[in-house]
Amino acid sequence: MPHHNNKTENMSFSAEVTKRHGGETLTACYQCGTCASSCPVARLDASFNPREIIKLSLLDEKEEVVSGNAIWLCASCFNCQERCPQNVEIAEVIYALRNIAVEAGHSPNIYSDFGSALITEGRIVSISKFVEKKRTEYGLPPLKPVGIEALNTILSVTGFIKPEKKEASQ
Ligand code: SF4
Ligand code: SF4
Repeated sequence: MPHHNNKTENMSFSAEVTKRHGGETLTACYQCGTCASSCPVARLDASFNPREIIKLSLLDEKEEVVSGNAIWLCASCFNCQERCPQNVEIAEVIYALRNIAVEAGHSPNIYSDFGSALITEGRIVSISKFVEKKRTEYGLPPLKPVGIEALNTILSVTGFIKPEKKEASQ
């Protein structure tokens, strides 16, 4: 995930978010709730509410937002973003919040596994023998190796940060 160099120590959390790529539209929200009523994840899990994530961010509740699970539950379907009357780019705001969370050392461990696989294999999910066998059975060609060296150069110059792995299970 891209590293953010701007100084943010004296900045309110909402300002920190709006300075981020993807977070720019945060402050246009007027809390109508269209996002929450459009969200398929909220339909399945009543504890998830994109309007609430936006509200807490506007209220500068950084700790609650970046250390909580909610930002990781969004499925990036963009339903909310298509319908927001204020053109808040909600899914993009959530990406910005995730990047802040990763930099603060808060992310589900699976993202650390994705990061490791990306660096060593060039794919976020390793290709298993099972997948290779299935591809052969379906007449698909073998997957081509990834140019790891070039990829790692890109990761380096774009400031990729591998999410930290936490000891406690989550
Ligand atoms: S739909 Fe847009 S304006 Fe309405 S609560 Fe969600 S983000 Fe805010
Ligand atoms: S992009 Fe995320 S928050 Fe928005 S509707 Fe889809 S799952 Fe819900």
